[in-house]
Amino acid sequence: MPSSVLIIGAGAAGLMAARELSARGHAVTILEARNRAGGRMHTIQTPSFSLPVETGAEFVHGKLPVTLQLLQEAHISYTPVEGRMIEVQGGHWHRQEHFVEGWDTLMERLQELQQDMTVQQFLETHFSGARYEALRRSVQRFAEGYDGADISKASTLALRSEWEKEEEEQYHIPGGYEQLTDFLVAQCVRQRCQLQLNTPIKHIRWQERCVEAVAEDGRTFTADKVIITIPLGVWQQENAKSSIAITPAIDPQMEAFRQIGFSAVIKISLEFKQPFWQEYEKELGFIFSEEIFPTWWTQHPHPAPLLTGWINGPQAASFTQAGPQKMQQYALYSLAGIFGLPLVFLEQQLVAAQVTDWGADPYTLGAYSYDMLPSQEARQLLQQPVANTLYFAGEALYTGAHPGTVEAALTNGKEVANRLMQQQ
Ligand SMILES: Cc1cc2nc3c(=O)[nH]c(=O)nc-3n(C[C@H](O)[C@H](O)[C@H](O)COP(=O)(O)OP(=O)(O)OC[C@H]3O[C@@H](n4cnc5c(N)ncnc54)[C@H](O)[C@@H]3O)c2cc1C
Repeated sequence: MPSSVLIIGAGAAGLMAARELSARGHAVTILEARNRAGGRMHTIQTPSFSLPVETGAEFVHGKLPVTLQLLQEAHISYTPVEGRMIEVQGGHWHRQEHFVEGWDTLMERLQELQQDMTVQQFLETHFSGARYEALRRSVQRFAEGYDGADISKASTLALRSEWEKEEEEQYHIPGGYEQLTDFLVAQCVRQRCQLQLNTPIKHIRWQERCVEAVAEDGRTFTADKVIITIPLGVWQQENAKSSIAITPAIDPQMEAFRQIGFSAVIKISLEFKQPFWQEYEKELGFIFSEEIFPTWWTQHPHPAPLLTGWINGPQAASFTQAGPQKMQQYALYSLAGIFGLPLVFLEQQLVAAQVTDWGADPYTLGAYSYDMLPSQEARQLLQQPVANTLYFAGEALYTGAHPGTVEAALTNGKEVANRLMQQQ
């Protein structure tokens, strides 16, 4: 028999779960804290930028079945990511074939690994000594910069299964991820889901097959079951403005949420008058450097004069209180170092800037998940509903080869909706 379901959070996981459930006649109400759907998919379109700017998710990291199928269904175009990768060290530019220097050697050792250990332990065991200094630096930079992982905690086996897929082609969505959000919202609404924006949930009271969610302004919503899709950062900071009290308490699950790693990201988009970088490298794609903003990318092959800078992992967390003005300054210093250009030139060239600090975003409190050594076990517990009434979903609960992505959130949202329907 169809049931009534509350879904907390209108990100990729929540919208996907809502779409599945409502397609099969369940009465779904989505409760979202923000004034928009999409969560960590957030495209902004302003006249100061010549292209839509992604403040959150930007790439499709490979031939990802659920994402690509949805994009095709929605007739949303996507294009391969192109361009050269450059490493800049001590003012010298080197072309790089892979994200990690010595990738083949690294993958060989990773294949031989039987027992899990942290990435730091793995590097100390298999790549010690001066000979491997560049490889160690490059692995650390990739694990931190790409996965947001703290290498003293991150699981090597989990990163191995992800990195094996890294050589796949990646895609950009020129019109922005926002189109995917709009498509999912339109489908949910057509299937009679109620979408309540501006509804931060503060409290969930529950007993078997009966849930009451209380919003910040006192409104209450009731249903047979609830799927909670709030980000890991919100679960982990129990006293945050966005955190949700659950009565009766679910202590083992709360502890399990703490066993999964969650990164922080500061992302900056800078539009300039001219794509001055083309004088250095005509087909510039990605830059990896040792600057405060170490990672940058262009829109190549699109000629837009837009550069995106990225700080991830422990370093991003240390800048979370700096504020947008300061971060914009750090970004320009970083570019001055990379290109050997005067700061004043970059300031004169700058047309528009957008800084997004996801660690400071109250409804995310971080960026995306990574596995620590106990994460798999924790995730097994969180995949089980509590009394067939409380269900958990979101990118952090996905088990597959593309963690921390929109694909992970969409897949997990779909799986959790199906599990709920089987457990009527
Ligand atoms: C900077 C950045 C770059 C990224 N780049 C990529 C990329 O290139 N490619 C890729 O595939 N993925 C990328 N990701 C990851 C991807 O965006 C996420 O994995 C995915 O969007 C997560 O979806 P979700 O539904 O699990 O969570 P979310 O999208 O975070 O949705 C959860 C929702 O819950 C809401 N919420 C929180 N608290 C409450 C509350 N108390 N009451 C009600 N609602 C609440 C939030 O507002 C949010 O809308 C990136 C993420 C970030 C931050």
